[in-house]
Amino acid sequence: MTTSIDAPDRDGALTPIPHWIGGAPVTGAAERTGDVFDPARGRVTRQVVLADASDVEAAVASAKAAFPQWRDMSLARRQAIMFRFRELLDARKGELAEIITSEHGKVLSDALGEITRGQEVVEFATGLAHHLKGEYSEQVSTDVDVYSLRQPLGVVGIISPFNFPAMVSMWFFPIAIAAGNTVVLKPSEKDPSAAVWIGELLKEAGLPDGVFTVLQGDKVAVDGLLEHPDVRAISFVGSTPIAQYIYETAARHGKRVQALGGAKNHMLVLPDADLDLVADSAVNAGFGSAGERCMAISVVVAVEPIADELVAKVRERIAGLRIGDGRRSCDMGPLVTRQHRDKVASYIDIAIADGAEVVVDGRDVVADGDPNGFWLGPTLIDRVSTASRVYTEEIFGPVLAVVRVASYEDGVALINSGAFGNGTAIFTNDGGAARRFQREVEVGMIGINVPIPVPVATFSFGGWRQSLFGDAKAHGSEGVKFYTQQKAVTARWLDPSHGGVDLGFPQN
Ligand code: NAD
Repeated sequence: MTTSIDAPDRDGALTPIPHWIGGAPVTGAAERTGDVFDPARGRVTRQVVLADASDVEAAVASAKAAFPQWRDMSLARRQAIMFRFRELLDARKGELAEIITSEHGKVLSDALGEITRGQEVVEFATGLAHHLKGEYSEQVSTDVDVYSLRQPLGVVGIISPFNFPAMVSMWFFPIAIAAGNTVVLKPSEKDPSAAVWIGELLKEAGLPDGVFTVLQGDKVAVDGLLEHPDVRAISFVGSTPIAQYIYETAARHGKRVQALGGAKNHMLVLPDADLDLVADSAVNAGFGSAGERCMAISVVVAVEPIADELVAKVRERIAGLRIGDGRRSCDMGPLVTRQHRDKVASYIDIAIADGAEVVVDGRDVVADGDPNGFWLGPTLIDRVSTASRVYTEEIFGPVLAVVRVASYEDGVALINSGAFGNGTAIFTNDGGAARRFQREVEVGMIGINVPIPVPVATFSFGGWRQSLFGDAKAHGSEGVKFYTQQKAVTARWLDPSHGGVDLGFPQN
C-alpha cells in the first residue's frame, strides 16, 4: 500500500513526512525540516516537516472545528469507530511494525509487541460507555435528585517520545477520542511516520476529519500547543527535564496536564530467588529494545551472597544474543541515533573511571547489519558505586549495572532514595518478602517475579516522584478521568405546591 508517508513528489524524490490535518497529509509552511534516520543503516532516509506557528494554528483550528459535532455524536457510534480501527489495526499491524523498525531500529517482533500493548487501550476504548457512567442519588432533599455526568474537554494535545512511536500515543488518543475530545498528536521528530499511518487508518475506520491531527515538529510545535488557548489538556511522555518543563508551562497556561518522565528501574534479587529465572529476566528487561524503554531494568540490586553467580549467568546469556538489523532475525537492534549511541557508550568510560568492573563491553559488538548502523552491544557493569553517574543518571541504552547490597532493607532503602519512581521488580520465592516489598517500596509500578510490570490497559500506567508530574496516570480509570470533566446536576420537577420565596439553603 502506498500511503502519504511514502509518496514521491513530481521529480520522483520522496516528499517530506507531512502533518496530518483535516484528514489529509499537509506539508504546511515546511520552511524547516528534520532528518529521519534508518538507525540500522546509519543514514538519513527521509525528512520530516517541522511546524512553525502557522502550522500549530492550522492544526488546533482544525481540531477545534471538529469538536462540536464529534462531541455530539452518540457514544455508541464513537465506540463503533474505535472498534473498526481495532480490527483494521489488528489486520495491518505488520505494516506499522515495519515503519517503526525502519525509523526506531527495534526488532520487528518488538515493534509488533508495542502495537499489541497499544491495541489493548483501543480495546478498552471500545467499551468506554461503561466507564463514562455517572452517579445518581434519588431524593437527596424532598423531591430533589442529584446526578453526575462526565463530558469531554475539547481539543487535547499529546506529545510523545521516540521510543514507542505507536504505543505511547495509543495510551492516550483512543480514550480521549472515544470520550468525545479531538486530539492533536505531536510525535517525536526522530520517528514521525507511525503517527501519520495511524491517522490514515483512523480515517479508514470512519473517524471524521479533524478529530485526530498529527502536528510534526520540535520545541516550536510543543510550545505552540502548551500556550494555545484552545488546547485544554496536555499528555506528555519523555525525559524528566522536559516533563517538568511541560508540566509547569502547561499549568501556567491553565491546562490540565499529565507529564510522564524518565526512569531508572531497579530489580531487587533476594538470595532465595531462582537465579536462572532472574538472569533471563534481567537480560530480557535490560536489553530488549536496546534498553530504550522507560520500564527497562537498568540496575540489578543483588542481595549477597548471590552476586557473583548471578553476574556469571547474565554474562553467559549476553554471549548468546544476536545484535543486528531489526528486519533480520536478531534479538536487539541499534540505538536510535549516532548521538544517542555515543552518549550511552560514554557511560562505559565513566564506569571505568569510577572504579566499576566492565564485565561485558558493548563497544566490542559485531553486529549483523550495515557497519554504519548505530550499534552498541549489551553492556554489563558490576560493582557500580551508587555515587557514580552510571547509577544516578538515566542512560536509556543497553547498559545494565549491578549494585551489591548486604540485605533486603539496604536494597529497599536504595530504591526509595532514587530520584525516579517509575517501575521496580523483586525476585524471590518468599511470599512474605514480596508482600513487604509491595508495601514498602516507593515506586508506581511493581513487579513480583515480573521484570517489566507494565499494567494492562484496564489499570493505569505511571510512576512516582520525577517519573510523573501531575496527578493522573495514563489509561485505565485515571485516563478516563483525565480526558473528561464532571458535571453535577441537582434536579427538582416542580408542581404548584412548591411555590414561595425562601432565601435559605434547603434543609431537607
Ligand atoms: P524527550 O524528552 O527528548 O522528547 C519527548 C518529546 O518532547 C518529543 O516529542 C520531543 O520533540 C519533545 N521535546 C524535546 N525537547 C523539547 C524541548 N526542549 N521543549 C519542548 N519539547 C521538547 O524524550 P525522548 O528522548 O524522545 O524519549 C526518551 C525519554 O522518554 C526517556 O527519558 C524515557 O524514560 C522517557 N519515557 C518515559 C515513559 C514513561 O512512561 N514514563 C515512557 C516512554 C519514554
